[in-house]
Amino acid sequence: MTSVDSHLAEVLAAIQPLTPVMLGLAEAEGGVLAEDITATTPLPSFDNSAMDGYAVQARDLDRATEAAPVTLPVTGEIPAGDTGSHQVTPGRCVRIMTGALLPPGADAVVPVEWTDGGTARAAFRQPVAPGNAIRRRGDDVAKGDLLLAAGAFLGSVQVALLAAAGTGSALVRPRPRVAVISTGNELAEPGSPIIPGQIWDSNSFMLAAAARQAGAVAHRHRITDDTAGVLIAIEDQLPHADLLITSGGVSMGGEHDVVKAALADLGTVTFRKVAMQPGMPQGFGVVGPQRTPIFTLPGNPVSAYVSFELFVRPALRALQGLPTARISPARAVLTDAVRSPQGRRSFLRGVHDAEEGTVTPLTGQASHQLGALALANVLIIVPEQVVSMDAGDPVDLMRLP
Ligand code: AMP
Ligand code: MG
Repeated sequence: MTSVDSHLAEVLAAIQPLTPVMLGLAEAEGGVLAEDITATTPLPSFDNSAMDGYAVQARDLDRATEAAPVTLPVTGEIPAGDTGSHQVTPGRCVRIMTGALLPPGADAVVPVEWTDGGTARAAFRQPVAPGNAIRRRGDDVAKGDLLLAAGAFLGSVQVALLAAAGTGSALVRPRPRVAVISTGNELAEPGSPIIPGQIWDSNSFMLAAAARQAGAVAHRHRITDDTAGVLIAIEDQLPHADLLITSGGVSMGGEHDVVKAALADLGTVTFRKVAMQPGMPQGFGVVGPQRTPIFTLPGNPVSAYVSFELFVRPALRALQGLPTARISPARAVLTDAVRSPQGRRSFLRGVHDAEEGTVTPLTGQASHQLGALALANVLIIVPEQVVSMDAGDPVDLMRLP
């Protein structure tokens, strides 16, 4: 048997980051930047008003008080986007909106709340400090500043920063494209009627959703149930996928193991037992002219899901050139005893109470028991050489997303 760690290491060694492509901002979201991006203009790019109010010369309001307001004629109004030629001269003011270009001559903006809000003349009840409510050119980002470095993940805010700086496209490693193929004679589409002996396919929905939540663009292929069908499905998906996942058909059982039968002869996919529970039968390799990575996951839903978290999620990160080490591992104290097979690392479904620092193993730890998995927020990790743990023992946890 291969250890979990060496199987993962082999997977990651076989994965090359995706080739960067130039994408418009909307498509670049969720990608990983493959170039440094520097600001070609300062942000803001012009002095502008931070408030709705009046652009003034501050010294005109030095004597303003509540009891004796200073009144100034209003010579115009500047909405945001107005690029016209307003000016503030001594003893006059201009009405100005948030984000509007500060007119020459003005050295302060008085918020409308400090005034009577007049349109022809405005009364000011207090003095204003020079520079008040003005956003200065470059006070956010200076021209030439590094906005984002190569390797940055483009989340919502990072995309906003590029947009704000006027960058319409960027060189990124895009979201990986994933195709999921469920195999099994017993499988039927949810929503269709079944008879005893048949089950509804859940894995392809689960794995495609998990891949999407991990940042991929994922879709499910229709269910296949024979060796030829598996090969056709793979052929079909290869041009549209950066990573393939199959479910089922890899146990040790022989002729019904259609995935194994379809891929064994290629010689580029390795089938092995990994020292883990659930999820022992694992296959991984590459297929097609692009040497596209393929994971052949076991069919039991909990096995398939745990395999996704352990091996596929890091592989998706590797495709984007992101660090693959699992972030935020946790530890907690068991509320109940657990058992684990000798020589295999167990991933038991549990409910972590972070406040109490405890973890409760769920009832229903068999690899078909999706009900318990759906209640879990962590996997409890029991090391290979440990066969039982008691209530009160500390354990390592893997948080589930
Ligand atoms: P296999 O790995 O094909 O031997 O399947 C192991 C177990 O997982 C069997 O009980 C299958 O019925 C079940 N199984 C296989 N594929 C799926 C699927 N796509 N959705 C739900 N259960 C499945
Ligand atoms: Mg099967």
